[in-house]
Amino acid sequence: MRTQRQIVDYSLQKRAVLRDVRNGRVGTLEVCDASPYLKNAARFHGEPTDERCPICRRDNLTLVHYIYGDELKQSAGQARKLAELTVLAMTLREFQVFVVEVCPSCAWNHLTEQYLLGRDALTTDELIRDEAMASSSSGRHRETGSSQRWEGRR
Ligand SMILES: [Zn+2]
Repeated sequence: MRTQRQIVDYSLQKRAVLRDVRNGRVGTLEVCDASPYLKNAARFHGEPTDERCPICRRDNLTLVHYIYGDELKQSAGQARKLAELTVLAMTLREFQVFVVEVCPSCAWNHLTEQYLLGRDALTTDELIRDEAMASSSSGRHRETGSSQRWEGRR
């Protein structure tokens, strides 16, 4: 996505968890603990992938995108489809996206990535073009690093 920035990749952490599972240091029950809420989010808002579940290998992983930020108001903390994120990214100045992978079969879940989206990343030229169409917004109040976080395992 065009305004994607401050990307944090959690693949190292994921590899460490999977290594612990293979070593028997961590039980599969501990990592296959997707809540009913997360499983529902995966079913209704998830993006299917071609990647097999690293734990059960029965199903492909689904990616769920959670959004956070003050501008989202009551939508903060909700799951959204990728297409909806694209629209929000052109409307809002800044919001945080947490991407969680979920296996529909065994309930494996892990935070894979987080990043920021929103118009604040656009160049001045792009903003002038956009602002000509958009209604006026008061002041450039800017707040990074919302205190809210994805409430998953660690
Ligand atoms: Zn699985």
